[in-house]
Amino acid sequence: MQIKAVAFDVDGTLYPNASMYLRSIPFALRRLCLMYSFAKVRRQVRKQRPVDDLAQTQARMLAERLRISPERAQERIQTEIYGTWEEVLDRVSPYPYVRECIKDLRDLGLAVAVTSDFPVDSKLVRLDLDGLFECRLWTEQSGYLKPHPEPFETLAECLGVAPRDVLYVGNSYEYDIIGAKRAGMYAAHRVRRPVPQTIADFSFADFRDLSRWVRAVVA
Ligand SMILES: [Mg+2]
Repeated sequence: MQIKAVAFDVDGTLYPNASMYLRSIPFALRRLCLMYSFAKVRRQVRKQRPVDDLAQTQARMLAERLRISPERAQERIQTEIYGTWEEVLDRVSPYPYVRECIKDLRDLGLAVAVTSDFPVDSKLVRLDLDGLFECRLWTEQSGYLKPHPEPFETLAECLGVAPRDVLYVGNSYEYDIIGAKRAGMYAAHRVRRPVPQTIADFSFADFRDLSRWVRAVVA
């Protein structure tokens, strides 16, 4: 096994999703219909190929569901989903040892990247994790969401290595682990209990275990 780079998913991987969901309840309650419809649209668009323009496509699909104009739908996605939801992160902390783990990986000479199906940059600032990554990819910019191959290909390109040299770390079995493995990457699953017969190369709940495992692999 050869690893030259490690890429992390953000939501539910670098910080607990549950604490954010909890904090976002008042926000979500005020926008139940929007949140529900956007989740439906995302589920639909994840299965669809080809997609010409992801941002436009999801805005159009949301517009149809909410019976509003595509322009208004796009505005609501930007301000109410991407914008406001991130503010919730202000009071959320990363999982223990995340920062130490990323530093360990960098000390091992590995390139480190981060990717999310939601805008990445301001989120990293809010989690106080910015400045630690060589590449930051918002999957929408690759034209597709995970588990489509494009986000993983774009990631490898940005890192300047082949997909087979990348370890992808994520919390979603369906989107992160299956997507990364299908793209030819190694995959580490951040999960409390490993999935039975998992296809992940490693499963962990404590970031110190991830550091140890990678150190043993690259040694
Ligand atoms: Mg996730």
